[in-house]
Amino acid sequence: MASRRSPVAGRPLIFIPAMAIFPIRTYPDPVLRMVSNPVEHIDADIRRLVEDMLETMYAAPGVGLAAPQIGIPLQVVVCDIGEGPFHLINPIMEATTGSWTYEEGCLSVPDRYWPIKRSGHARACGLDLDGREVTYEGDELMGRVLQHELDHLEGTLLLKRLTRRVRKEALREMREEELARGGL
Ligand code: ZN
Repeated sequence: MASRRSPVAGRPLIFIPAMAIFPIRTYPDPVLRMVSNPVEHIDADIRRLVEDMLETMYAAPGVGLAAPQIGIPLQVVVCDIGEGPFHLINPIMEATTGSWTYEEGCLSVPDRYWPIKRSGHARACGLDLDGREVTYEGDELMGRVLQHELDHLEGTLLLKRLTRRVRKEALREMREEELARGGL
């Protein structure tokens, strides 16, 4: 998820050459509409994937990233809302309550923000890289990023959370910009 705030500002820059920054897939890449598969074995590949996703998210910069956004339809998300990085493997949304409207963006729909109404509080559980069950929950930005990233694993982009009228306008604008750039 992209945020207008910059919660990672001030984070020391640590360059570890083993990590890789992946290109982020953008709308209308079909991988973004896929339902992601659960991770069956937490092995070295998954560990590497989590590291690379964090690196890609910080470089963007963003506050959350889901594996399909780098073209890998697996149930893995990483987040850092400014309180330190965490990841969830095979996450499940346990509970959502309340409602909160927040100007939300997505790294896969770059440079666009819309006020989107979602639950104000969310609690999600999943596995960490050691295979332990972990739970993350929170209000506002924390709840928002959990809902946004778990949506990605269902193939749902924030565009789907817009009202019909706003979505129609957004899609029209994006099409026009694409044409202006000479794309199809
Ligand atoms: Zn997103």
